[in-house]
Amino acid sequence: MSVNVNFMTHPLIQHKVSLLRDKNTGSKEFREIIAEVAMLMCYEVTRDLPLKEIEIETPISVAKTKVLSGRKLAFVPILRAGIGMETGVRELIPAAKIGHIGLYRDPETLMPKTYYSKLPKDIAQREVIVLDPMLATGGTAVDAISKIKEFGPKNLKFMCIIASTVGIEKLTKEHPDVAVYCAAKDEKLNDSGYIVPGLGDAGDRIFGTK
Ligand code: URA
Repeated sequence: MSVNVNFMTHPLIQHKVSLLRDKNTGSKEFREIIAEVAMLMCYEVTRDLPLKEIEIETPISVAKTKVLSGRKLAFVPILRAGIGMETGVRELIPAAKIGHIGLYRDPETLMPKTYYSKLPKDIAQREVIVLDPMLATGGTAVDAISKIKEFGPKNLKFMCIIASTVGIEKLTKEHPDVAVYCAAKDEKLNDSGYIVPGLGDAGDRIFGTK
């Protein structure tokens, strides 16, 4: 497995992923847990953010202390299931900007078509973290990242909850510069492109559309 793939093994993340996998977890709970897992993963994904030392006055005296040193972030959830993760990361880093991207594959040409794209104007000055709970075939993630790269962001990371082996292989082959973060890896896809055992259709379970 590529060195650019990072597995989030923290017990809280693993426990919550099991709750997501359970078919008896209802939509409200599922939505809340997706956001929680995304928040916990975001904590790890942002581990390399640079710090600078500052001085502030506490009620007692002056403290030399550290704050983030201005690397700007943007999150880009892939529509629609990525929105479930957006809720969690936004809570952790409220200053980050949020873009949205939605794509489908033209059934005739098989070329990716963007049906929605609204990205921060200054995305070229930002580190971008792309969000999608499921990395299945890898097609959508590869296409979304290619589109975002056209705007020249500083650095790109991809964060998903469950990844398939083929999805990871495709993404790391097409975008070797993009670090991938996931909480679990499943070996198989079924004939409809769903991850097995996975957790079902993440969008339907987040939005209760089934
Ligand atoms: N998208 C989903 O929501 N679930 C899968 O298993 C694969 C893609």
